[in-house]
Amino acid sequence: MQNKKIVTIIGGGASGIMAAISCKIHNPDYEVVILEKNFKIGRKILATGNGRCNITNSNLKLENYHTSSKTKELIQNIFKEFNEEKIINFFNNQNLELKTEKEGRIFPRTNQALAVVKCLEYEMERLKIKIEYNFNVANIKKHDNKFIIEVYRGTPIKSDFLIIATGGLSYKDLGSTGDGYIFAKNFGHSLIKNFPSITALKLNSKILKKISGVRQEVLVKVIVDNEIIKEYFEEILFTDYGISGSAILQISRTAIENLLRNKKVFIGIQFTYESVKKEQVKKILLRQIDLSQEKKLKSVLLYFLNTILIDNLFDEVKDKLCKDLSNIEIKRIVEILTDTRFEVSGYKDWEQAQITTGGVNIDEINPTTLESKKEKGLYFCGEILDVDGDCGGYNLSWAWSSGWVVGGLI
Ligand SMILES: Cc1cc2nc3c(=O)[nH]c(=O)nc-3n(C[C@H](O)[C@H](O)[C@H](O)COP(=O)(O)OP(=O)(O)OC[C@H]3O[C@@H](n4cnc5c(N)ncnc54)[C@H](O)[C@@H]3O)c2cc1C
Repeated sequence: MQNKKIVTIIGGGASGIMAAISCKIHNPDYEVVILEKNFKIGRKILATGNGRCNITNSNLKLENYHTSSKTKELIQNIFKEFNEEKIINFFNNQNLELKTEKEGRIFPRTNQALAVVKCLEYEMERLKIKIEYNFNVANIKKHDNKFIIEVYRGTPIKSDFLIIATGGLSYKDLGSTGDGYIFAKNFGHSLIKNFPSITALKLNSKILKKISGVRQEVLVKVIVDNEIIKEYFEEILFTDYGISGSAILQISRTAIENLLRNKKVFIGIQFTYESVKKEQVKKILLRQIDLSQEKKLKSVLLYFLNTILIDNLFDEVKDKLCKDLSNIEIKRIVEILTDTRFEVSGYKDWEQAQITTGGVNIDEINPTTLESKKEKGLYFCGEILDVDGDCGGYNLSWAWSSGWVVGGLI
């Protein structure tokens, strides 16, 4: 009798779990094993979406994904095979009801990331997928067409196929410490330089200590060489080191990428709705000033801003009576309301960044099967590859879809 083929997956995160499930569904006769260095699987999934897990997005577009490769063919192939509809169906089939929020972001209806991990665990139990916990892979060799997976303490495991799904470098405490990059390099793969993304930005400004804690929905712009290169309307949160909040998470990649190119990067803030242009802001301001001639400017500014921002952005002028404001002062007030700029001095590193850009060079990976072009039988999926998505369910989608495809094609 022929021995069962063994498929081993290093990493029990979103992509590794999905690869295991898909592999077992497509190949019931294979023995599928997950090796996970943690005492639990899916620890990062539990942290996603502030514990609510933004599981996917109703509109996955190529433009929301980034890679250093000249072509996005590989990303396109994966989503052609397993798109947002299939992700939703997959989770619905695990009895998870989903709901769609702003900008197509999809969450479990129960708002519980734990429910996502549980349904995956139940499915793996049903499929009899083996999970080795506390299994910290130290090294991988290939001998006689078999992968020999060595652990720090214990007996090595032999496998016919190997999927590396060890994630990137962010949130090391949850298990992703970059080990997979070393394994990939040992098999001859080149690595695209990593940097953290979907993270808070540090700003150069003396007023941060005073405005720390202020939240407001604003239009944020990334400005490089006096040109707006990205903008996003959502909430920001000033902190004592800089700025955070969902709008900043959305634009952080562009800001960091330019900082790393040694560019001077500014965050410009328009404290009004996205659609309200500078001329309209001026019109509204003049109308409010007209109606409040005997009042101080600070009472008019309540129309636009949080009181702490009024106190700290408008110096003495805030206490002037509206009727005494000069045209130059009014021009300056409009400027502050529509284009307050802060220089970006840095960013929150791996301990706070939600994702890792860069990773295993996808030009060295078969764009249909995700098999290594360097080593037969070796595959990759998830964040370890040089593919990253925007904030909004795009990164988990990449993990689910690349995992599903790789597991199904072995
Ligand atoms: C705080 C936070 C919030 C996020 N929120 C969202 C969100 O709402 N929506 C979204 O789309 N994305 C979100 N992301 C991003 C998303 O979680 C990741 O892109 C995705 O989980 C990556 O999955 P992965 O399987 O590739 O890697 P990981 O989830 O990092 O899994 C890798 C696994 O490999 C294991 N491992 C590593 N090295 C070894 C080794 N040597 N031996 C054995 N096992 C090993 C690790 O322990 C880990 O379990 C968030 C990320 C963070 C940190």
